[in-house]
Amino acid sequence: MDLLEYQGKQLFARHGLDVSDGRAVTTVEDAVAAANELGYPVVVKAQVLIGGRGKAGGVKLASNEDEAREHATNILGLDIRGHIVHELWIEKASDIADEYYASILLDRSAKAPLLMFSKEGGIDIEEVAANTPEKLVRHHIDALDGLSREEALKIAEQGGVEADLTDGVADILVSLYEVWTQEDATLTEINPLIVTPDRKVKALDAKVTLDNNALYRHPENAELKVHGEEDPQEAKAAEHGLQYVALDGDIGILGNGAGLVMSTLDVVAQAGGSPANFLDAGGGSDAETIKQGVEVILGNPKVKAVLFNIFGGITRCDEVANGLIAAFAEINPTVPFVVRLDGTNDVQGRELLEQAALPNVHPAKTMNEAAEKVVALAKEQS
Ligand code: GDP
Ligand code: MN
Repeated sequence: MDLLEYQGKQLFARHGLDVSDGRAVTTVEDAVAAANELGYPVVVKAQVLIGGRGKAGGVKLASNEDEAREHATNILGLDIRGHIVHELWIEKASDIADEYYASILLDRSAKAPLLMFSKEGGIDIEEVAANTPEKLVRHHIDALDGLSREEALKIAEQGGVEADLTDGVADILVSLYEVWTQEDATLTEINPLIVTPDRKVKALDAKVTLDNNALYRHPENAELKVHGEEDPQEAKAAEHGLQYVALDGDIGILGNGAGLVMSTLDVVAQAGGSPANFLDAGGGSDAETIKQGVEVILGNPKVKAVLFNIFGGITRCDEVANGLIAAFAEINPTVPFVVRLDGTNDVQGRELLEQAALPNVHPAKTMNEAAEKVVALAKEQS
């Protein structure tokens, strides 16, 4: 789950990181009132879940009320690469002497958190990594030992930070790792991490991604979910406890068990098709869950055909068949379905489907046969 800049800054502040005072607002009038209250100059910042806001005109300095009003008017409603601005963060402006970069992300291949620091901040860090990799310090953190102050100081020195600033930078790095671990984040990034003319170091921007699977440990963070930005099908699936990920193809997929669903995506791709989603109905899914799954899949207008790939274990194939029959009774799908039922109660499941004589439902015996059939049916539709 991605956080807006100001939400990230609020988490930062909880862990002792220095951030500027500000207010989140959704109207021009509230923006102006916030700016007047904070005192000028202020920065008017678009709050959307995408970076590069500055370049897109979504970050503007205002030195008086008229400018605050003008910028708030222009930025609210602005479309930043497909993200419409509904909220602004009005922040007391900072004077900048230098812009650094700091982040911690999960390096899956190294199975460890990776801290990156550079004195070249404010710009795309990918550029720094590609053009001047020697200016980017990369340091894997030992998850058991954590990040010591000594290590953090060494990183700052290695990055070329001047002597009077290494303490400030090290403090930030230690706090950033505290946010990462204690809030169960998978990414914490500060770009730019600024040095002020009076030689203080602070976070001017915040990019935080929290681990969805750990949100149950942080009910206060779960409330930070940004509504209106998520995929509507993903939101509906989450409501019903289905594991759903939207993809960009046209073949809807439903299976039980993450491994089986992933293999199904592979065989469909191998057969020349392009999956529209990943949907794991879970082990032991009942008819109601299956019905909800069908609704979620068909909520995506790009879907031209659907593949059900069920390997019955705890999940009973007759339950799945009943779910499909219930879904057809309610939503009357017009796209073809290919259904492969194998395992617990598969004979009963197939019998139920045969008796129900659902229009446009094609049984398949094996996974490969099912994939080929569904790809052919999808092609017929286009
Ligand atoms: P991003 O473009 O989405 O990464 O948004 P940032 O929050 O990083 O802001 C973009 C740029 O705006 C920064 O790199 C700064 O150069 C500038 N900026 C943001 N806040 C301030 C501020 O308080 N004072 C000044 N002088 N510049 C700012
Ligand atoms: Mn930034």
